Amino acid sequence: MAAAEEKDVLMRADHIKVYFKGKNKRSGTVKAVDDISLEIKKGETFGVVGESGCGKSTLGRTLIRLLKPTEGHIYLDGTDIAGMKGADLKEMRKKAQIIFQDPSACLNPRRTVRQILMEPFEIHQMTKQIDVEARIMELLNLVGLDAYHLSRYPHELSGGQKQRIGIARALALKPDLIICDEAVSALDVSVQAQVLNLLQELKEKLGLTYFFISHNLNVVYQVSDRVGVMYLGKIVEIADYDQLYEKRYHPYTEALLSAIPQVGQEERRERIRLRGEVPSPSNPPDGCHFHTRCPRACDRCSLEVPKLREVEKGHLVACHLYDQ
Ligand code: SF4
Repeated sequence: MAAAEEKDVLMRADHIKVYFKGKNKRSGTVKAVDDISLEIKKGETFGVVGESGCGKSTLGRTLIRLLKPTEGHIYLDGTDIAGMKGADLKEMRKKAQIIFQDPSACLNPRRTVRQILMEPFEIHQMTKQIDVEARIMELLNLVGLDAYHLSRYPHELSGGQKQRIGIARALALKPDLIICDEAVSALDVSVQAQVLNLLQELKEKLGLTYFFISHNLNVVYQVSDRVGVMYLGKIVEIADYDQLYEKRYHPYTEALLSAIPQVGQEERRERIRLRGEVPSPSNPPDGCHFHTRCPRACDRCSLEVPKLREVEKGHLVACHLYDQ
């Protein structure tokens, strides 16, 4: 893989695998993340797109060590966090936070907004070190809410307001990296746009780096500087947003893009309908995991795993069609 200069990289994942043992012998091992290497550059939004169950949320949670990788290394600002535990892991969490998909499920219904925003400072025993009340007001202002929201409980807030609280909580400890795990998927379309705009404003104002996960390529396109496409535990294509919009190499990316409705374009893309279902990650096909659905598969595809290679500067693809 073409490596960015070390000083520009915030996070580097190196051959990470996340495997889960099945409940019994017959259910096998689920290979949720299967040998992924990638870099997240400082200040960028790295979008990850793929169908439900492809492993993108597991990848995001592993990158900030909510899950432990089965194998591989994860470097955050040059420090390997893959095997970190205890106090070191707790300290690391100040640098990397997550915004979850469903704001209703991740806010404690019995706590007020003020109590929810106080939690990160309590967990890190910072309540005596800093002016927490002032910091909480600052967080509310950053996400466009007011002081009167502090006494509200989650059920008294709209979906968009709840997600703003989720964002404020993620920002509390001034992280460098935020994993946005389907952060707008549960919201109405009009609210989605507001929250995406807010995330963009915060990124510019606070110099944040995002790892933005979504099943919706359209949403990923709106926010990302670079995009990684995931299929069945593997990254199959990585490119800058505009490179990918201009040219997709991987047949799966082509199929994903063809499903986005086009408005006002003279040349209409033909919708590529993939055959069959996504195979189970506990029993992925040999060779290229996509070969059972790929319209361009050949004999080699079922035998050999394609490597992620650079086909143009900064544009990486895992497909035998581009091996030469
Ligand atoms: Fe399709 Fe083969 Fe390329 Fe996989 S390696 S995407 S099966 S052409």
